[in-house]
Amino acid sequence: MPDFKAYFSARLDNATTLLQDFVEIESPSHDKTAVNRMAQRVVQEALARGANIERKPGSEFGDQVIARWPGAKTGQGILMLCHMDTVWPLGTLAERPVRIQDGRMYAPGAYDMKAGIVICLEAVLGLQALDRMPASPITLLCTADEETGSLESRATIEALAAESRLVLCMEPALPGGVLKTARKGVGGFDIHIYGRAAHAGADHQKGINAIEEMAHQVLALQKLTRYDSGTTVNVGVIKGGSASNVVPAECHIEVDFRVSQMDEVERVTTAVHELKPHLDGARIEIEGGLNRPPMVRDALMERTFRHAAEIAHRHGFDLQEASTGGASDANFTAAMHIPTLDGLGADGDGGHAITEHVILASLPARAALLAALLSEW
Ligand SMILES: [Zn+2]
Repeated sequence: MPDFKAYFSARLDNATTLLQDFVEIESPSHDKTAVNRMAQRVVQEALARGANIERKPGSEFGDQVIARWPGAKTGQGILMLCHMDTVWPLGTLAERPVRIQDGRMYAPGAYDMKAGIVICLEAVLGLQALDRMPASPITLLCTADEETGSLESRATIEALAAESRLVLCMEPALPGGVLKTARKGVGGFDIHIYGRAAHAGADHQKGINAIEEMAHQVLALQKLTRYDSGTTVNVGVIKGGSASNVVPAECHIEVDFRVSQMDEVERVTTAVHELKPHLDGARIEIEGGLNRPPMVRDALMERTFRHAAEIAHRHGFDLQEASTGGASDANFTAAMHIPTLDGLGADGDGGHAITEHVILASLPARAALLAALLSEW
């Protein structure tokens, strides 16, 4: 059995340098040109490892990069899932340049999830060097719109997952390298209320107050929360009115909802679409719904995790699992009943926050774990 731990530990500097290269190519989801620069860099690295490249042009977002190592055997392979986009706008790096301190790299997008791409590229390189590439195909998909809900890449994710026997989502680990075996599903609504404007002094009774109407709706929405079922509904943004002496004609809210169970999706979306105005003459418009279905820790997830833990154990890793409220692209593939593991990326903390960092020693450790899974699954 190859000593993956030792092999990748000796390459810590290479992995660190590659991660620094990646984070220094800023790639906010909404800047297509910027994300495509990152895509070009990923293509270059994958080509250097002998991959066949397919680049799917994005329309609103950047390109999706598919790197394939076909293997000697055809048939179902393993899909590694990454995203190249980050939540950080251009210029963040100028404000907060890469900083390495106490074995941690602080950098925008490092933890979520450019480190995941580094780990995949390292793992493939190691498997090739140690002559351990599996006979069945390995595919790396790097998407460009994960942080905005994967609207463009979802079809690619699902198509590649459908031809895979295992999906490894390289999103960051929970602290300590813990995998994510349950994730909430997530969705959202945009709700508009239209009332009638009027002078608040002269014609108060002629107005239809859109804010008053929305107040009723906000309370109804918040009450859809059921903590014991893992369901939360959050009215997070409210906008309306123009001046205190005008009866407001319009009000708009943005709502986030999270569910742990599929039947809760039905309950919440039905209730939202059945919202009716309370005030005579007010009109309500509702857009939105479920974005990512919940990733449930069902029997398949339990089996998949247990098998991964066995492989990990043989290579000296004690693999743990937990659940998280955030959703990822693994939600899509798990909902297709394809064996899926998530949180295989770097250890660290501070995703989407200014404290974002990667524990650098986790890069070789995770590359070793990934190499073990790819070669022994
Ligand atoms: Zn992510």
